[in-house]
Amino acid sequence: MLKARPFFVLKYYFYVNLDFNKCMDINKDYDLICVGGGIMSATLALLAKSIQPELSILILERLDDVAQESSAAWNNAGTGHSALCELNYTPEKEDGSINCTKALQIFNQFEISKQFWSFLIQKGFIKSPQEFIHNVPHYSWVTGEKNSNYLEKRFEALKEKFMFSNMEFTKDFDVMKQWFPLMMNDRSEEDVMAATKMQNGTEVNYGVLTKRLYQILEDEYNVVVQCNQDVLEIAFPEFVYSENGKKVLAGIVPTWKKNDSESFFNEYLKRCNETLNI
Ligand SMILES: Cc1cc2nc3c(=O)[nH]c(=O)nc-3n(C[C@H](O)[C@H](O)[C@H](O)COP(=O)(O)OP(=O)(O)OC[C@H]3O[C@@H](n4cnc5c(N)ncnc54)[C@H](O)[C@@H]3O)c2cc1C
Repeated sequence: MLKARPFFVLKYYFYVNLDFNKCMDINKDYDLICVGGGIMSATLALLAKSIQPELSILILERLDDVAQESSAAWNNAGTGHSALCELNYTPEKEDGSINCTKALQIFNQFEISKQFWSFLIQKGFIKSPQEFIHNVPHYSWVTGEKNSNYLEKRFEALKEKFMFSNMEFTKDFDVMKQWFPLMMNDRSEEDVMAATKMQNGTEVNYGVLTKRLYQILEDEYNVVVQCNQDVLEIAFPEFVYSENGKKVLAGIVPTWKKNDSESFFNEYLKRCNETLNI
């Protein structure tokens, strides 16, 4: 029976700039290969393993640890992108009305993320949500007449949706001073400003979360991230089957990125063919 492949499957052979001896698993087939040790690979791999624990997964990271790039705590704002405060998810249409479609979609996606994290807590994989998530109100703040009118229209449109029904709106200087006092320093009641508040916003430490997800993958599912592995290119070889059923490597269209890639590729092909017993 074919293995179920819930996401995407790379029945793969690819090459990395590594000594083959250090790369024991390089000639194996995997159901799923994730390039990069950030929150995305961690989430995908963990979702896949939760659904189908027998899946074989390989994760490759070019740096010497996971969660060092965008998923590192200091490299993102940590709002969780729930569309509570991000104005770009509610563009103004030509007729002046507000398009809420994207905001509803993003809100929904973040709710699903929270459900997944809750599932991991219920399973005992994460001891406490305080490790990585806290309640922090999300504010949007704008200045000037045009922007203030836009924010008010956005508020009117969103508050109709139950997810945003607790949104608060103000043009009042004193309320804003209460909401975010530092930002009101050196401003006066004459300034035209507006703001919204969503009490149920979150602050997410994606760095901590990402590391925790990889820890779960390692401890519970025996999936280890292979660090210091720079994937140069991914090739999709085509296989044809000869009459006796033997696999034959038919073709790869590579793009070279390194001077020594050709010899590396030759070695790679040799290893592929050895693996396939050609
Ligand atoms: C300034 C900023 C603010 C943000 N604010 C928010 C926010 O408030 N809320 C929110 O939800 N999101 C926010 N984001 C977005 C969020 O941080 C990213 O969407 C998320 O971290 C992306 O995760 P990732 O796993 O795709 O990428 P990363 O965490 O960047 O992981 C990618 C990994 O791939 C590795 N890699 C790359 N190429 C190769 C290769 N060839 N071989 C091997 N490894 C490779 C990298 O070294 C890296 O470790 C923000 C992003 C930025 C930059």
